[in-house]
Amino acid sequence: MSTSKTHDGGTAAHAVHPVSGGPIVQLPTAFGEFVAQAWTDLETGAEHLAVSSPKAPAAGKAPLVRLHSECLTGDVFGSYRCDCGEQLAYALELIAEEGGTLLYLRGQEGRGIGLANKIKAYALQEAGFDTVEANEQLGLPVDARCYKAAAQILAEMDLHEIRLLSNNPDKQNRLAAAGVKVVEMVPTEVPSREENLRYLQTKKDRMDHLLTLGDTEPASIAFELDQD
Ligand SMILES: [Zn+2]
Repeated sequence: MSTSKTHDGGTAAHAVHPVSGGPIVQLPTAFGEFVAQAWTDLETGAEHLAVSSPKAPAAGKAPLVRLHSECLTGDVFGSYRCDCGEQLAYALELIAEEGGTLLYLRGQEGRGIGLANKIKAYALQEAGFDTVEANEQLGLPVDARCYKAAAQILAEMDLHEIRLLSNNPDKQNRLAAAGVKVVEMVPTEVPSREENLRYLQTKKDRMDHLLTLGDTEPASIAFELDQD
């Protein structure tokens, strides 16, 4: 098995995980007509869901892709502690309109620390720590998410060059390390709320997320990546 360099200079035994895709089925939703396909990460057993619009992207445009990390509190309960639920809705609306795929990545709760730990981190945040410090207090990584299965799923779906719907430049780096080329970052910023402003500010300041949070020039975050 060949080894490859990751973007941060480390070596990975393999840049992707083997995956297995199931049948493609119709998935009519409140956001539009989609097709869905379940994918199993054969390395971890995690089951992910690809939700795609049957619409073809506009001529000359790479398909829009959102890698959405599971967030039970945000996605299912509409929690305002984060912006996941609103980002999920925004992404599905945009993909229904423009064509593309949302890959719903399960087992990535709380940036990969799990649901129970995420709620523990919330308790620490209520005691005054920010989202990064709270994970550090728990002795957990700030971002433990793995995109090796995601990259392989995209490759098997023939999504080799994509427009990535994300504010997180690190996702682009990790996909590049796994051989998926992000030709454009498309911002997904949804309006901040009183309840999640500190969380979003921390993502912007400490995790380099491309968020404006009411600053001027929101258009500046829709940049074309200069890649060769
Ligand atoms: Zn969330």
